[in-house]
Amino acid sequence: MKYCPHCATPLNDTLIEGEIRSACAGHDCGFIHFNNPTPVVAMIVELEGGVVMAHNVSWPEKFYSIITGFLEAGEDPLECAKRETLEELNLHAQTAELLGVYGFPQQNQVIIAYHIQAHGEIKLNEELDDYKIIPPEKLKGWNMGTGLAINDWLAKRAKP
Ligand SMILES: [Zn+2]
Repeated sequence: MKYCPHCATPLNDTLIEGEIRSACAGHDCGFIHFNNPTPVVAMIVELEGGVVMAHNVSWPEKFYSIITGFLEAGEDPLECAKRETLEELNLHAQTAELLGVYGFPQQNQVIIAYHIQAHGEIKLNEELDDYKIIPPEKLKGWNMGTGLAINDWLAKRAKP
């Protein structure tokens, strides 16, 4: 963001309460761009004993991940998780359980992760162009973002 969304004055780096913020230089405005993280809902969708890993049209060829989505205004995160599962995969959530909440500073996001047991027949929406169903014993997370949720889910299910 380069210009103030209220008065269109250019934003300047300004020291405010010990933090450098991008702030409006307009005298009567006072707008500060806090750049707070965006919440993102992520879903470990289990179908027929495996986890749905999908490929986004904009990603490198070999990168597959669990599905994610943005909350609508006023939407409950749990409802968002079910809605995105239906919209992106055409699957219906039978159960949906909160798995954890994860910071993702690389994308300036906070991930709210759910485990969903789903049924139905997969039909990808236009954001996705491929998917795999990975058995949990072959699934591996990674060290940031949604990968952390996958690791936690695997650790939780390994417990007797
Ligand atoms: Zn302004």
